[in-house]
Amino acid sequence: MTDPFALASALPVPIAVERRDSSRSLGQNGSLANGESGELLGSSPTGRSPSRRLQRMSSSLREQLDVKGPVAPYQALPVQGPIEDAPAANLPIMEPNGMPAEEFEARINKVLADYKQKLAERTSHHMGYPYNLDFEYGALDGLQKFSINNLGDPFIASNYGVHSREFEVGVLHWFARLWEIDQDEYWGYITNCGTEGNLHGILVGRENLPDGVLYASKDSHYSVFKAARMYRMQAVQVATLKTGEIDCADLKVHLLRNKGKPAILNVNIGTTVKGAVDDLDQVLDILKETGYTEDRFFIHCDGALFGLMVPFVKRAPLVTFEKPIGSVSVSGHKFVGAPVPCGVVITRTRYVEALANSIEYLNSRDATIMGSRNGHAPIYLWYTLTRKGYEGMRQDVERCLLNAHLLKAMLSWLGIKTMLNELSSTVVFERPTSEIFVRKWQLACQGDIAHVVVMPNITITKVLEFVQDLILQRRGCSEETARRAAKEALDFAEAHVQSLD
Ligand SMILES: *Cc1c(COP(=O)(O)O)cnc(C)c1O
Repeated sequence: MTDPFALASALPVPIAVERRDSSRSLGQNGSLANGESGELLGSSPTGRSPSRRLQRMSSSLREQLDVKGPVAPYQALPVQGPIEDAPAANLPIMEPNGMPAEEFEARINKVLADYKQKLAERTSHHMGYPYNLDFEYGALDGLQKFSINNLGDPFIASNYGVHSREFEVGVLHWFARLWEIDQDEYWGYITNCGTEGNLHGILVGRENLPDGVLYASKDSHYSVFKAARMYRMQAVQVATLKTGEIDCADLKVHLLRNKGKPAILNVNIGTTVKGAVDDLDQVLDILKETGYTEDRFFIHCDGALFGLMVPFVKRAPLVTFEKPIGSVSVSGHKFVGAPVPCGVVITRTRYVEALANSIEYLNSRDATIMGSRNGHAPIYLWYTLTRKGYEGMRQDVERCLLNAHLLKAMLSWLGIKTMLNELSSTVVFERPTSEIFVRKWQLACQGDIAHVVVMPNITITKVLEFVQDLILQRRGCSEETARRAAKEALDFAEAHVQSLD
């Protein structure tokens, strides 16, 4: 292999201690410098305030980035060579009568044992996708003996009896409380994923405002534009700021241009790549300024990533039905963690009437996107939320933000360009030029940036291991040197974060 981190020659990795005092130190390009403290956490069900350290940590990014400027590409060296798709492997179905029964059993067992081993290894080297891989559902062993299916409306019993509606409604009430809407005013269900939540939220918007134009920032998840294509809606891609937030000035221009038609807006509570949180209040202000009354707009909040984290971070929760929003969705397998993909969507009862049909065959109501629905997922969510409670979730959020800031500080110490948005645990950095490294750590990359989304399973030990490996790749040094350098970077990061206390 040629130098896998060609970047290393352009931007030497500072193993030496001088880096601490050099001009590239954290204060200049990191986000840990002092700043006005943002308001974090507090009110409603989420409980007490977090440490002031965290308040200060997540506050100063806006000052350091020219956030009101136009979008600029993230600066990094281009990836070398084309990026090739890795073809998926194929495990053929075996024929039972082709060999003696015992040998057949042994083969099946070997396939499964190998696969479990691979899963364990892949789970331990995962940094890129926002999935919390740390969960324990041993108490639910045995449930896979049942075909649990919640088809239909969660609030109306179906004739199919093997369901988990009681768990589903319990989970929905929990989210309704988190997002501040009364039990008799909301409707929602447990989806198959965040995408389904987006498809549902945007459909509810479209059914209520049939000729509405969809507005979403260009950093929105691809499922938002997929919805526009599926529903054949007129869609407008709004520009973004450097942070990845929606550019409200551009939004205003588009809203004025289409004033004859109602507006359906997708507001991101954490964008996929940069973890940026769109400014819902500013979006609402602009709707008012441009003359869109509440009956002429519908806001869907895509909270797949941070919809569950942000309420624990900001004193005035960003995502709340006390504001005139129409729906919120979140992925269940991301921050909560679950062995199957899942999600939650919540909207106002009065909006969902527009797409609900009674189905005699189900003896229920059809207001979901899918037909059959995973009945195990609600039990996983119910179990974790019950075990952790609001306080446990709050602690998880705080730990993720802390570890994200430590990782960012460590990368800065190494001279790697990084960015970390306020309210976010997505650490954005230069895309490593080694595809082997990218695959090993399962980094999600877009263009010349990569990111690590710090979820509860990304412990500080894991961060240390990752940084050490990154040094090894960039530097081609001995493992011992890399270990020492990583440790030093961590000491530096911890001292810096501590010093903010
Ligand atoms: C992950 C993600 C989605 C899609 O969620 P899935 O559960 O993967 O379908 C949508 N929006 C954002 C912002 C996301 O990060």
